[in-house]
Amino acid sequence: MSFVSEFNALPLEALVERSTRAPLAAVRESLDQPRLSLTDFAHLISPAAGGMLEAMGRRSQVVTQQRFGKVIRLFAPLYLSNECINNCRYCGFSRDNAILRVTLSVEEVLREALELKAQGFRNLLLVAGEHPKFISNSYLVECVRALHLEVPGISLEVGPMEADEYRPIVQAGADGLVVYQETYDRAVYAGMHTSGPKRNFDWRLETPERAYAAGFRRLGIGPLYGLGDWRLEAISVAAHAAYLLRHCWKAYLTISIPRLRPCAGEFQPLTHMTDREMVQLVCAFRLLFPEVGLVLSTRESPRLRDGLIPLGITLISAGSHTEPGGYTGAGRDKLHRTERGRIIELGASEWAPSDDPRHGPSATGQFNIADERSAREVADLIRRLGYEPVWKDWDAALTA
Ligand code: SF4
Repeated sequence: MSFVSEFNALPLEALVERSTRAPLAAVRESLDQPRLSLTDFAHLISPAAGGMLEAMGRRSQVVTQQRFGKVIRLFAPLYLSNECINNCRYCGFSRDNAILRVTLSVEEVLREALELKAQGFRNLLLVAGEHPKFISNSYLVECVRALHLEVPGISLEVGPMEADEYRPIVQAGADGLVVYQETYDRAVYAGMHTSGPKRNFDWRLETPERAYAAGFRRLGIGPLYGLGDWRLEAISVAAHAAYLLRHCWKAYLTISIPRLRPCAGEFQPLTHMTDREMVQLVCAFRLLFPEVGLVLSTRESPRLRDGLIPLGITLISAGSHTEPGGYTGAGRDKLHRTERGRIIELGASEWAPSDDPRHGPSATGQFNIADERSAREVADLIRRLGYEPVWKDWDAALTA
C-alpha cells in the first residue's frame, strides 16, 4: 500500500478541526507525551499552543541538541535549467511566463559547482524545471557524474520519474531526492497546476517511494506554504513523513518549510502563515520527529533564519541563486525567451553582450530570495551562535 491509500484514509478535516479548536489543556497534555502522535502534533500547531511557544521552543532546542549536537549543515541549490512544460501558477518558471531561460551545459554546471566548492560547499542540490527535451535523464546522469568527482553530496530536485529512470542517476553518484508536494489539498492542487504532467497529484505523492526503490538514501519532502491552509499542509506532511519513516527506513528524511516568495507571474499567496506560526511549526515538527532533518532556505529573512537555528533547524541553504548560471554567469551567452513553449531569440534591445559574463542579462530566477548574505557570512553567524557550520552533509562511504 502506497502513501496515497493512507493519505486518502487520513481524517484530515477532523484533524485540522481538532487543531483549530484544541483547548490549552489538550496542548499541555500533548506536550507532556514522551512520544507524540499525529493528534498531539495537531494540538501543538493549534492557536492555543501559540501561547506556549516558549515552552515548546525550550523543549525543541533540547531535543535538537541531543540528536544533532550543536551543528548546522549547509547546502546550496545549483539551478541547471529554468525550462518547464508545467504551468504552476505560483512559480516563476511556469511555461507561460515569458521569462529569460537557459539550460546549462554539463561543463557550465561543473563551473557553477566548482565555484560553490570554492565557497566551501560539499553538498549541492541540483534544481531544474520539468522539460524532457532540455532536462533529459541522460543529461542529469552526465551532470551528476561530472559533479560527483568534485562534490560528495548531490541531491536532485527535478521532475518526478519512474524508479527505473532514477537508477542510473543514483549509480552516477546522486544520493538525495527532494520532491515538494506543493499542496496536499487536492482541490487547491488542481487549481494551481493548470497544465502539464504535474497535474497528477497521486503520481507526485508517490515519488519519494519510487526514489527510495531506486536507491536514493536521502529523501526530502514538504509543502509550499501559502497555497493551502497551513495546518492542513503541516498535518499532511507529518503523516507523509511518518509513512516514509516506517516504509523507507534506510533513508534519511528531511522536511522543508518553504513559504511562497515573489516571482515572475506575480502570483499572490492564497493563505498566510505568520513568522510566529512558523516558529511554532518548526518546534512541533521537532517534537514529533526528533530524528528528522528540518530544512530552511533563503526564502526567509536573515532575522527569522538566525532565530530558528537554535530551535530545531538542522540544514540551511546560504548564498543562494535561483537562476541557472547565478554563481558564475554561465549560460548568459545563450539566453532566450520562451513563450507558451516557443523559443524566441532575444532582440538586440534585450541583448547586452559583455566581456564579463557576470554582467548583462541573466536567466530569470525561480523566486526572489530574502536572505542575501554570502555563504561565508552565514557560516560566521552560525559560529557566533555557538554552532558549528558543516559543509559536507553526507558521504556514500557511511552507508558501505
Ligand atoms: S514548480 Fe517546478 S514544475 Fe512547476 S513551473 Fe516551477 S519548475 Fe516547473
